Amino acid sequence: MTVNPDVIIIGGGLAGLTSALHLSKQGLKVTLIEKHNYPHHKVCGEYLSNEIVPYLCWLNANINELHPTYIQHLKFTTQNGKSAQVKLPLGGIGVSRYCLDDFLYQKAKANGCAIVIASVSGISFSDDIFEVSVQDQILRAKIVLGAFGKRANIDQILARDFMKKTSKWMAVKAHYSGDFPDGLIALHNFPGGYCGISKIEHNAINLCYLTDVEMFKKYKNVVDHQKHVLFTNSHLKSFFERNTVLFDKPLTISQISFEKKTVIEDHILMVGDAASLIHPFCGNGMAMAIHSAKIASELIVDYYAGKITSREGLEKRYINQWRKNFARRLFFGRILATVLGYEVGIRVLMRVAILFPAVLTWIIKQTHGNMKQIKWG
Ligand SMILES: Cc1cc2nc3c(=O)[nH]c(=O)nc-3n(C[C@H](O)[C@H](O)[C@H](O)COP(=O)(O)OP(=O)(O)OC[C@H]3O[C@@H](n4cnc5c(N)ncnc54)[C@H](O)[C@@H]3O)c2cc1C
Repeated sequence: MTVNPDVIIIGGGLAGLTSALHLSKQGLKVTLIEKHNYPHHKVCGEYLSNEIVPYLCWLNANINELHPTYIQHLKFTTQNGKSAQVKLPLGGIGVSRYCLDDFLYQKAKANGCAIVIASVSGISFSDDIFEVSVQDQILRAKIVLGAFGKRANIDQILARDFMKKTSKWMAVKAHYSGDFPDGLIALHNFPGGYCGISKIEHNAINLCYLTDVEMFKKYKNVVDHQKHVLFTNSHLKSFFERNTVLFDKPLTISQISFEKKTVIEDHILMVGDAASLIHPFCGNGMAMAIHSAKIASELIVDYYAGKITSREGLEKRYINQWRKNFARRLFFGRILATVLGYEVGIRVLMRVAILFPAVLTWIIKQTHGNMKQIKWG
Protein backbone atom coordinates (compact mmCIF):
# COMPACT_ATOMS: atom_id res chain seq x y z
CA MET A 1 0.00 0.00 0.00
CA THR A 2 1.50 3.38 -0.98
CA VAL A 3 1.19 6.23 1.47
CA ASN A 4 1.08 9.42 -0.45
CA PRO A 5 0.77 12.38 0.32
CA ASP A 6 1.73 13.28 3.92
CA VAL A 7 -1.56 15.05 4.58
CA ILE A 8 -4.97 15.00 2.90
CA ILE A 9 -7.14 18.03 3.57
CA ILE A 10 -10.87 17.67 2.98
CA GLY A 11 -12.37 21.07 2.17
CA GLY A 12 -10.76 24.13 0.62
CA GLY A 13 -12.28 27.02 2.57
CA LEU A 14 -10.17 29.19 4.85
CA ALA A 15 -9.16 26.45 7.29
CA GLY A 16 -8.23 23.96 4.53
CA LEU A 17 -6.36 26.43 2.36
CA THR A 18 -4.45 27.92 5.31
CA SER A 19 -3.40 24.43 6.42
CA ALA A 20 -2.33 23.63 2.86
CA LEU A 21 -0.19 26.78 2.73
CA HIS A 22 1.36 26.17 6.14
CA LEU A 23 2.15 22.48 5.63
CA SER A 24 3.54 22.96 2.10
CA LYS A 25 5.66 25.90 3.29
CA GLN A 26 7.19 23.50 5.83
CA GLY A 27 7.99 20.94 3.12
CA LEU A 28 5.13 18.45 3.57
CA LYS A 29 3.28 16.89 0.63
CA VAL A 30 -0.34 18.00 0.68
CA THR A 31 -3.43 17.01 -1.29
CA LEU A 32 -6.43 19.28 -0.78
CA ILE A 33 -9.87 18.21 -2.00
CA GLU A 34 -12.54 20.87 -2.55
CA LYS A 35 -15.93 20.20 -4.08
CA HIS A 36 -16.45 23.63 -5.73
CA ASN A 37 -14.41 25.29 -8.45
CA TYR A 38 -12.64 28.54 -7.53
CA PRO A 39 -13.59 31.33 -7.31
CA HIS A 40 -16.99 30.98 -5.68
CA HIS A 41 -19.18 33.09 -3.42
CA LYS A 42 -19.95 31.95 0.14
CA VAL A 43 -22.52 33.00 2.70
CA CYS A 44 -20.40 35.04 5.11
CA GLY A 45 -20.31 38.52 6.68
CA GLU A 46 -16.82 38.94 5.10
CA TYR A 47 -15.43 40.80 8.11
CA LEU A 48 -12.02 39.31 8.91
CA SER A 49 -10.54 40.13 12.33
CA ASN A 50 -7.06 41.68 12.16
CA GLU A 51 -5.67 39.12 14.61
CA ILE A 52 -4.68 36.72 11.84
CA VAL A 53 -3.39 39.19 9.24
CA PRO A 54 0.30 38.91 10.33
CA TYR A 55 0.05 35.11 10.22
CA LEU A 56 -1.29 35.23 6.66
CA CYS A 57 1.65 37.50 5.76
CA TRP A 58 3.97 34.85 7.21
CA LEU A 59 2.31 32.38 4.83
CA ASN A 60 3.19 34.84 1.99
CA ALA A 61 -0.50 35.73 1.64
CA ASN A 62 -0.62 39.48 2.14
CA ILE A 63 -4.32 40.36 2.03
CA ASN A 64 -3.52 44.00 1.27
CA GLU A 65 -2.89 42.82 -2.30
CA LEU A 66 -6.68 42.30 -2.58
CA HIS A 67 -7.39 46.01 -1.87
CA PRO A 68 -9.73 45.26 1.04
CA THR A 69 -11.41 47.88 3.19
CA TYR A 70 -10.19 48.51 6.72
CA ILE A 71 -12.90 48.43 9.36
CA GLN A 72 -12.47 50.13 12.74
CA HIS A 73 -16.00 50.87 13.93
CA LEU A 74 -19.12 48.89 14.69
CA LYS A 75 -22.55 50.50 14.53
CA PHE A 76 -25.60 48.65 15.80
CA THR A 77 -29.24 49.55 15.54
CA THR A 78 -32.40 48.27 17.22
CA GLN A 79 -35.65 47.34 15.51
CA ASN A 80 -37.04 50.78 16.27
CA GLY A 81 -34.05 52.44 14.62
CA LYS A 82 -32.05 53.53 17.69
CA SER A 83 -28.32 53.30 17.13
CA ALA A 84 -24.94 53.39 18.85
CA GLN A 85 -21.38 53.07 17.63
CA VAL A 86 -18.22 51.62 19.22
CA LYS A 87 -14.61 51.36 18.17
CA LEU A 88 -13.63 47.74 17.50
CA PRO A 89 -10.85 46.66 19.90
CA LEU A 90 -8.78 45.03 17.12
CA GLY A 91 -10.50 46.11 13.94
CA GLY A 92 -10.60 44.05 10.79
CA ILE A 93 -10.68 43.80 7.07
CA GLY A 94 -13.57 43.72 4.62
CA VAL A 95 -12.82 41.28 1.82
CA SER A 96 -15.11 38.95 -0.13
CA ARG A 97 -14.79 35.18 0.20
CA TYR A 98 -14.88 35.12 -3.60
CA CYS A 99 -11.51 36.91 -3.67
CA LEU A 100 -9.99 35.68 -0.42
CA ASP A 101 -10.51 31.93 -0.94
CA ASP A 102 -9.35 32.18 -4.55
CA PHE A 103 -6.26 34.16 -3.48
CA LEU A 104 -5.29 31.44 -0.97
CA TYR A 105 -6.08 28.72 -3.51
CA GLN A 106 -3.70 30.32 -6.06
CA LYS A 107 -1.00 30.55 -3.36
CA ALA A 108 -1.51 26.91 -2.34
CA LYS A 109 -1.19 25.80 -5.98
CA ALA A 110 1.96 27.90 -6.36
CA ASN A 111 3.35 26.21 -3.20
CA GLY A 112 3.00 22.83 -4.96
CA CYS A 113 -0.10 21.50 -3.19
CA ALA A 114 -2.09 19.02 -5.26
CA ILE A 115 -5.65 20.31 -5.47
CA VAL A 116 -8.47 18.02 -6.52
CA ILE A 117 -11.81 19.64 -7.38
CA ALA A 118 -14.31 16.94 -6.42
CA SER A 119 -16.47 15.89 -3.51
CA VAL A 120 -15.12 13.39 -0.97
CA SER A 121 -17.66 10.61 -0.71
CA GLY A 122 -16.10 8.35 1.92
CA ILE A 123 -13.38 8.05 4.52
CA SER A 124 -12.08 5.19 6.63
CA PHE A 125 -9.20 4.58 9.00
CA SER A 126 -7.42 1.30 9.61
CA ASP A 127 -3.84 0.06 10.19
CA ASP A 128 -2.85 3.66 10.98
CA ILE A 129 -3.76 4.84 7.46
CA PHE A 130 -6.71 6.82 6.11
CA GLU A 131 -8.44 5.94 2.88
CA VAL A 132 -10.32 8.82 1.30
CA SER A 133 -12.74 8.14 -1.58
CA VAL A 134 -12.96 10.82 -4.19
CA GLN A 135 -14.50 10.32 -7.64
CA ASP A 136 -13.29 6.85 -8.69
CA GLN A 137 -10.04 6.94 -6.74
CA ILE A 138 -8.91 6.13 -3.22
CA LEU A 139 -6.29 8.46 -1.76
CA ARG A 140 -4.23 7.32 1.20
CA ALA A 141 -2.39 9.30 3.87
CA LYS A 142 -1.30 9.06 7.48
CA ILE A 143 -2.98 12.33 8.45
CA VAL A 144 -6.33 13.77 7.38
CA LEU A 145 -7.53 17.25 8.25
CA GLY A 146 -11.31 17.72 8.29
CA ALA A 147 -11.81 21.26 6.92
CA PHE A 148 -15.23 20.68 5.38
CA GLY A 149 -17.04 23.52 7.12
CA LYS A 150 -20.11 23.76 9.31
CA ARG A 151 -22.22 20.98 7.77
CA ALA A 152 -21.15 18.44 5.15
CA ASN A 153 -21.83 14.95 3.85
CA ILE A 154 -18.78 13.76 5.85
CA ASP A 155 -20.54 14.75 9.08
CA GLN A 156 -23.31 12.37 8.02
CA ILE A 157 -20.80 9.62 7.17
CA LEU A 158 -19.14 10.04 10.56
CA ALA A 159 -22.58 10.15 12.24
CA ARG A 160 -21.57 13.22 14.20
CA ASP A 161 -23.90 14.06 17.09
CA PHE A 162 -24.77 17.62 16.10
CA MET A 163 -26.30 16.30 12.82
CA LYS A 164 -29.10 14.69 14.81
CA LYS A 165 -30.43 18.09 15.88
CA THR A 166 -32.14 20.58 13.61
CA SER A 167 -31.27 24.24 13.71
CA LYS A 168 -33.64 27.17 13.43
CA TRP A 169 -31.15 29.46 11.70
CA MET A 170 -30.77 30.26 8.04
CA ALA A 171 -28.67 32.96 6.37
CA VAL A 172 -28.91 35.14 3.27
CA LYS A 173 -26.11 37.09 1.59
CA ALA A 174 -25.63 39.35 -1.45
CA HIS A 175 -23.31 42.08 -2.68
CA TYR A 176 -24.53 45.58 -3.48
CA SER A 177 -23.23 48.68 -5.19
CA GLY A 178 -24.01 52.15 -3.88
CA ASP A 179 -23.43 54.13 -0.80
CA PHE A 180 -22.02 52.88 2.51
CA PRO A 181 -19.44 54.49 4.82
CA ASP A 182 -15.85 53.24 4.76
CA GLY A 183 -14.37 51.76 7.92
CA LEU A 184 -17.71 50.66 9.38
CA ILE A 185 -19.54 47.41 10.01
CA ALA A 186 -23.22 47.88 10.80
CA LEU A 187 -25.34 45.30 12.66
CA HIS A 188 -29.05 45.92 12.32
CA ASN A 189 -31.58 44.01 14.38
CA PHE A 190 -34.92 43.00 12.84
CA PRO A 191 -37.66 40.63 14.06
CA GLY A 192 -36.14 37.14 14.16
CA GLY A 193 -32.57 38.07 13.31
CA TYR A 194 -29.89 40.59 12.55
CA CYS A 195 -28.11 41.82 9.47
CA GLY A 196 -24.44 42.78 8.99
CA ILE A 197 -23.36 45.28 6.34
CA SER A 198 -19.83 46.37 5.49
CA LYS A 199 -17.73 47.28 2.51
CA ILE A 200 -15.44 44.80 0.80
CA GLU A 201 -12.87 45.29 -1.99
CA HIS A 202 -13.56 47.58 -4.98
CA ASN A 203 -16.17 49.60 -3.07
CA ALA A 204 -18.73 46.78 -3.20
CA ILE A 205 -20.91 46.25 -0.11
CA ASN A 206 -21.61 42.90 1.51
CA LEU A 207 -24.96 42.35 3.21
CA CYS A 208 -25.48 39.13 5.15
CA TYR A 209 -28.19 38.24 7.62
CA LEU A 210 -29.12 35.45 9.94
CA THR A 211 -32.81 34.81 10.44
CA ASP A 212 -35.19 32.44 12.11
CA VAL A 213 -36.32 29.96 9.47
CA GLU A 214 -39.90 29.80 10.80
CA MET A 215 -40.20 33.55 10.48
CA PHE A 216 -38.77 33.39 6.96
CA LYS A 217 -41.23 30.68 5.89
CA LYS A 218 -44.17 33.01 6.50
CA TYR A 219 -43.19 34.87 3.33
CA LYS A 220 -43.10 33.87 -0.33
CA ASN A 221 -39.41 34.51 -0.97
CA VAL A 222 -36.31 36.47 0.11
CA VAL A 223 -37.52 39.79 -1.31
CA ASP A 224 -40.93 39.45 0.31
CA HIS A 225 -39.33 38.60 3.68
CA GLN A 226 -36.99 41.58 3.34
CA LYS A 227 -39.86 43.97 2.58
CA HIS A 228 -42.05 42.78 5.42
CA VAL A 229 -39.48 42.00 8.09
CA LEU A 230 -36.09 43.65 7.47
CA PHE A 231 -37.70 46.91 6.37
CA THR A 232 -39.19 47.32 9.86
CA ASN A 233 -35.74 48.62 10.83
CA SER A 234 -35.56 52.03 9.11
CA HIS A 235 -31.77 51.73 8.63
CA LEU A 236 -32.23 48.53 6.63
CA LYS A 237 -35.15 49.93 4.65
CA SER A 238 -33.04 52.91 3.68
CA PHE A 239 -30.10 50.62 2.72
CA PHE A 240 -32.23 48.44 0.43
CA GLU A 241 -33.86 51.46 -1.17
CA ARG A 242 -30.60 53.32 -1.85
CA ASN A 243 -28.43 50.45 -3.12
CA THR A 244 -28.44 48.03 -6.05
CA VAL A 245 -28.02 44.30 -5.64
CA LEU A 246 -25.14 42.84 -7.69
CA PHE A 247 -26.16 39.16 -7.52
CA ASP A 248 -28.82 37.66 -9.79
CA LYS A 249 -30.12 35.86 -6.75
CA PRO A 250 -29.01 36.17 -3.09
CA LEU A 251 -27.21 33.10 -1.67
CA THR A 252 -29.02 31.25 1.09
CA ILE A 253 -28.03 28.46 3.49
CA SER A 254 -29.99 26.77 6.25
CA GLN A 255 -29.38 24.46 9.21
CA ILE A 256 -26.67 26.67 10.72
CA SER A 257 -25.84 24.89 13.94
CA PHE A 258 -23.93 26.27 16.92
CA GLU A 259 -23.98 22.91 18.74
CA LYS A 260 -20.81 21.57 20.36
CA LYS A 261 -18.68 19.33 18.10
CA THR A 262 -15.77 17.02 18.73
CA VAL A 263 -12.38 18.33 17.69
CA ILE A 264 -11.18 14.86 16.66
CA GLU A 265 -13.42 12.24 15.11
CA ASP A 266 -12.16 8.82 14.00
CA HIS A 267 -8.59 10.27 14.19
CA ILE A 268 -9.45 13.10 11.76
CA LEU A 269 -8.20 16.43 13.13
CA MET A 270 -11.05 18.89 12.61
CA VAL A 271 -10.20 22.49 11.77
CA GLY A 272 -12.36 25.58 11.24
CA ASP A 273 -16.14 25.21 11.36
CA ALA A 274 -15.81 21.41 11.21
CA ALA A 275 -14.41 21.67 14.77
CA SER A 276 -16.89 24.32 15.94
CA LEU A 277 -18.84 27.29 14.64
CA ILE A 278 -18.89 30.45 16.73
CA HIS A 279 -22.00 32.62 16.39
CA PRO A 280 -21.52 34.96 13.39
CA PHE A 281 -22.56 37.88 15.61
CA CYS A 282 -19.02 37.57 17.05
CA GLY A 283 -17.43 38.16 13.63
CA ASN A 284 -14.59 35.80 14.45
CA GLY A 285 -15.27 32.50 12.65
CA MET A 286 -12.85 33.14 9.81
CA ALA A 287 -10.02 34.13 12.16
CA MET A 288 -10.71 31.04 14.30
CA ALA A 289 -10.71 28.81 11.21
CA ILE A 290 -7.32 30.19 10.17
CA HIS A 291 -5.96 30.02 13.73
CA SER A 292 -7.08 26.40 14.20
CA ALA A 293 -5.40 25.52 10.89
CA LYS A 294 -2.18 27.04 12.21
CA ILE A 295 -2.34 25.03 15.45
CA ALA A 296 -3.03 21.74 13.64
CA SER A 297 -0.37 22.40 11.00
CA GLU A 298 2.36 23.20 13.55
CA LEU A 299 1.65 19.94 15.39
CA ILE A 300 1.60 17.92 12.16
CA VAL A 301 4.97 19.42 11.20
CA ASP A 302 6.31 18.37 14.64
CA TYR A 303 4.82 14.90 14.15
CA TYR A 304 6.55 14.38 10.82
CA ALA A 305 9.79 15.83 12.25
CA GLY A 306 9.67 13.17 15.00
CA LYS A 307 9.17 15.71 17.80
CA ILE A 308 5.77 14.18 18.50
CA THR A 309 6.27 10.44 18.48
CA SER A 310 2.77 8.99 18.34
CA ARG A 311 -0.67 9.65 16.86
CA GLU A 312 -2.03 9.64 20.39
CA GLY A 313 0.42 12.39 21.36
CA LEU A 314 -0.54 14.42 18.30
CA GLU A 315 -4.24 14.13 19.05
CA LYS A 316 -3.85 14.96 22.76
CA ARG A 317 -1.84 18.05 22.00
CA TYR A 318 -4.26 19.22 19.36
CA ILE A 319 -7.22 18.89 21.73
CA ASN A 320 -5.32 20.73 24.49
CA GLN A 321 -4.19 23.58 22.30
CA TRP A 322 -7.56 23.88 20.66
CA ARG A 323 -9.25 24.17 24.06
CA LYS A 324 -6.65 26.60 25.36
CA ASN A 325 -7.20 28.93 22.43
CA PHE A 326 -10.90 28.63 21.75
CA ALA A 327 -12.84 27.23 24.74
CA ARG A 328 -13.43 30.64 26.35
CA ARG A 329 -14.46 32.32 23.08
CA LEU A 330 -16.85 29.52 22.23
CA PHE A 331 -18.32 29.57 25.71
CA PHE A 332 -19.17 33.26 25.32
CA GLY A 333 -20.24 32.69 21.71
CA ARG A 334 -22.64 29.99 22.88
CA ILE A 335 -24.12 32.21 25.59
CA LEU A 336 -24.60 34.83 22.92
CA ALA A 337 -26.19 32.30 20.56
CA THR A 338 -28.64 31.30 23.32
CA VAL A 339 -29.54 34.93 24.06
CA LEU A 340 -29.90 35.70 20.36
CA GLY A 341 -32.01 32.58 19.90
CA TYR A 342 -34.94 34.38 21.54
CA GLU A 343 -36.62 37.47 20.18
CA VAL A 344 -36.66 39.00 23.63
CA GLY A 345 -32.93 38.17 24.02
CA ILE A 346 -32.02 40.04 20.85
CA ARG A 347 -34.05 43.05 21.89
CA VAL A 348 -32.65 43.16 25.44
CA LEU A 349 -29.07 42.77 24.22
CA MET A 350 -29.50 45.50 21.66
CA ARG A 351 -31.08 47.88 24.20
CA VAL A 352 -28.32 47.23 26.76
CA ALA A 353 -25.74 47.81 24.02
CA ILE A 354 -27.36 51.10 23.05
CA LEU A 355 -27.37 52.30 26.67
CA PHE A 356 -23.91 50.92 27.51
CA PRO A 357 -21.88 50.50 24.30
CA ALA A 358 -18.91 49.35 26.43
CA VAL A 359 -20.83 46.07 27.00
CA LEU A 360 -20.52 45.30 23.31
CA THR A 361 -16.81 46.09 23.30
CA TRP A 362 -16.46 43.70 26.25
CA ILE A 363 -18.39 40.93 24.42
CA ILE A 364 -16.24 41.42 21.32
CA LYS A 365 -13.10 41.08 23.46
CA GLN A 366 -14.38 37.81 25.02
CA THR A 367 -15.03 36.26 21.62
CA HIS A 368 -11.84 37.38 19.87
CA GLY A 369 -8.21 36.43 20.20
CA ASN A 370 -5.40 38.93 20.25
CA MET A 371 -2.27 39.56 18.26
CA LYS A 372 -0.09 38.04 21.03
CA GLN A 373 -2.09 34.81 21.12
CA ILE A 374 -1.36 34.02 17.48
CA LYS A 375 2.43 34.41 17.52
CA TRP A 376 4.53 32.16 15.27
CA GLY A 377 7.76 32.14 13.39
C1 LIG B 1 -24.26 33.90 8.18
C2 LIG B 1 -22.81 33.81 8.53
C3 LIG B 1 -22.06 34.98 8.59
C4 LIG B 1 -20.70 34.91 8.94
N1 LIG B 1 -19.97 36.07 9.00
C5 LIG B 1 -18.69 36.04 9.40
C6 LIG B 1 -17.91 37.23 9.48
O1 LIG B 1 -18.33 38.31 9.11
N2 LIG B 1 -16.64 37.12 9.93
C7 LIG B 1 -16.09 35.93 10.31
O2 LIG B 1 -14.93 35.91 10.74
N3 LIG B 1 -16.78 34.78 10.21
C8 LIG B 1 -18.06 34.80 9.77
N4 LIG B 1 -18.77 33.64 9.65
C9 LIG B 1 -18.10 32.38 9.94
C10 LIG B 1 -17.19 31.97 8.77
O3 LIG B 1 -17.88 32.04 7.55
C11 LIG B 1 -16.67 30.55 8.98
O4 LIG B 1 -16.22 30.43 10.32
C12 LIG B 1 -15.54 30.20 8.03
O5 LIG B 1 -16.00 30.22 6.70
C13 LIG B 1 -14.99 28.82 8.34
O6 LIG B 1 -14.09 28.40 7.37
P1 LIG B 1 -13.92 26.84 7.06
O7 LIG B 1 -12.75 26.73 6.17
O8 LIG B 1 -13.94 26.07 8.32
O9 LIG B 1 -15.25 26.43 6.31
P2 LIG B 1 -15.74 26.83 4.84
O10 LIG B 1 -15.24 28.16 4.45
O11 LIG B 1 -17.21 26.61 4.87
O12 LIG B 1 -15.05 25.76 3.90
C14 LIG B 1 -15.41 24.42 3.89
C15 LIG B 1 -15.17 23.89 2.48
O13 LIG B 1 -15.31 22.48 2.46
C16 LIG B 1 -15.88 22.11 1.23
N5 LIG B 1 -16.47 20.78 1.35
C17 LIG B 1 -17.50 20.39 2.14
N6 LIG B 1 -17.74 19.08 1.99
C18 LIG B 1 -16.84 18.61 1.11
C19 LIG B 1 -16.58 17.34 0.55
N7 LIG B 1 -17.30 16.26 0.88
N8 LIG B 1 -15.58 17.21 -0.34
C20 LIG B 1 -14.83 18.29 -0.70
N9 LIG B 1 -15.03 19.53 -0.19
C21 LIG B 1 -16.02 19.69 0.70
C22 LIG B 1 -16.90 23.21 0.94
O14 LIG B 1 -17.23 23.30 -0.42
C23 LIG B 1 -16.16 24.44 1.47
O15 LIG B 1 -15.49 25.15 0.46
C24 LIG B 1 -20.11 33.67 9.26
C25 LIG B 1 -20.87 32.50 9.19
C26 LIG B 1 -22.20 32.57 8.84
C27 LIG B 1 -23.00 31.31 8.77
